[in-house]
Amino acid sequence: MPQVEETRDCYHCGKKGHLQANCPEIVKKEEIETHAQFFVAREQQQQEQDAAAAAPAAAPEHDAPAAPDFGELMQWHQGLVELENELIELRHMVTETKQRVENILAFREDRKIERTIIKEE
Ligand SMILES: [Zn+2]
Repeated sequence: MPQVEETRDCYHCGKKGHLQANCPEIVKKEEIETHAQFFVAREQQQQEQDAAAAAPAAAPEHDAPAAPDFGELMQWHQGLVELENELIELRHMVTETKQRVENILAFREDRKIERTIIKEE
């Protein structure tokens, strides 16, 4: 195929001597992208291989508990919220009972003082 000198401007880089279809800058960019895709794919493959190699040794299936799913996590969360509410209620009850005992003790102290006063009269 005879090479005819191109006199029009390249639509991509604006230089003379080639057209956009043969633009060295586009070729370079595509080359870099292809290389990048290749490296990403190779890295991903390597990670998958590493994970597959590490998985059986690190976690034998019958020993490792399965990771809880979202529904299970929500159940745990709900249980914790209920426990927290029970704790708040219990604390409230303890405070109330303490107050009642203190009232009774104060009442008895008053009666003791009253009796002492009556005796002395
Ligand atoms: Zn060009």
